[in-house]
Amino acid sequence: MTIILFGPPGAGKGTQANLIQNEYVIPHLSTGNIFRAAIKNETPLGLKVKAIMDAGELVSDETVNDLVEDELKDPKYASGYILDGYPRTVNQAQALDTIQEKLGQKTDALIVLEVPNDELISRILSRGQGRSDDNEESVKNRLQVYENETAPVIAYYEEKGIVRHINGVGTLEEVFERIKASLS
Ligand code: AMP
Repeated sequence: MTIILFGPPGAGKGTQANLIQNEYVIPHLSTGNIFRAAIKNETPLGLKVKAIMDAGELVSDETVNDLVEDELKDPKYASGYILDGYPRTVNQAQALDTIQEKLGQKTDALIVLEVPNDELISRILSRGQGRSDDNEESVKNRLQVYENETAPVIAYYEEKGIVRHINGVGTLEEVFERIKASLS
């Protein structure tokens, strides 16, 4: 099974991706985690994306699409995976279609975690993960970028009939139960 976990920053994508990964035994691919590791290790990719991430802007489609294409070639993704934080633009969604077609893969479901904006802001500012993009200015920008550039991806997948809207407010167990029910 191949799932895209979708939703604004702070909606709980990373947490739910970990729970889904354990339940369905499929690998989790987070572009944000790859970028954070690259920054920590001071690789050329990390140096390229650090300022963009800190400002809450999006890394270029070309950079992200190339990275995902390279990653999805790994045989560990052959029988399904969870994407978290990708695709984030309609261009990326189209690129993902092309990549999956080439590799003989397809997306089964896009799960949108829905959480009101005021709760997102307070969750992020209190999550204390020490992320350098978890300050108020960057968070507000990330929410704006989500609305302008990322939310339109939902309509792209609505046309394919694979979108599941999930209420993301509640305990992590409650939200996970809703996700499982939507997938069964
Ligand atoms: P995340 O951990 O998914 O919230 O991503 C953190 C940051 O990494 C984002 O605010 C972007 O700067 C960058 N990023 C992660 N995934 C993408 C993507 N698919 N497209 C563009 N930028 C991304």
